[in-house]
Amino acid sequence: MTVTTSRDVAGALSVTVLGCSGTYAAAGNPCSGFLVRGGGTAVLLDCGPGTLANLQEHVTLDEVDAVVVSHEHPDHWLEIPLLRHAWRYGWGVRREGVPLFATTGTRRLATSLTSGDLDDTFDVTEIGDGAVFRVGALSLSCSRTAHTVESLAVRVDHAGASVAYTADTGADWRIAELGPGLDLVVAEATFLSADGLTGMGGVHMTAAEAGGSAAEAEASALVLTHVLPGRSWAEAVAEAGAAYGAPVEPAAPHRTFEVGAGPAPA
Ligand SMILES: [Zn+2]
Repeated sequence: MTVTTSRDVAGALSVTVLGCSGTYAAAGNPCSGFLVRGGGTAVLLDCGPGTLANLQEHVTLDEVDAVVVSHEHPDHWLEIPLLRHAWRYGWGVRREGVPLFATTGTRRLATSLTSGDLDDTFDVTEIGDGAVFRVGALSLSCSRTAHTVESLAVRVDHAGASVAYTADTGADWRIAELGPGLDLVVAEATFLSADGLTGMGGVHMTAAEAGGSAAEAEASALVLTHVLPGRSWAEAVAEAGAAYGAPVEPAAPHRTFEVGAGPAPA
């Protein structure tokens, strides 16, 4: 795995962090959102508050091929009504039929926040546990995690490379559910073990739990996300690394993680 902050992506598959603050935005760090790119396809995976601005540092709104939302908690999708504003009322960026893959609960809440007009901009497909679908060059698959509401971890495959995103989950759901051969896992690590909240009643993982689950899945690389504001990213990385048995990277806005061989030079 290589790490870059360049706009250019060289790997077969990449994940660019748009925001990675857990539960609510921290200073300078929006809520959850990731740009997954491969084979000329771009998917916006979760779009928490603040991620729309950072998205446009990397791609134009025309270049987003689909939006995928993991679950209905507002820190993971509240840019949907604003994406609709852009695509319906924006200057030079108007679109219809933008593919949106979301849980039933997310669709219900997003429809409410757009006064029932979600479908004038988005072509919505409801997804759940075991959902498999394609967006352009990317193959996606979902696994329902352990969370307070239906929450879907997402695996993305392209050209023999694979990345996984745990979404929100407690440690009772295991990363290995997404299958073998993961080149990169972006795992939530809301808490530290020292917080005394291990398991959080099955709602979120500690950094150690994220590291242990990634090790069990034999993932080739681990990036932490969804650290709660006020908790130490450095401590989370150290704790997860000890459980994972190898160095761990922290997510941060505009960091891009690339896996797999890129296209051959022309
Ligand atoms: Zn959640």
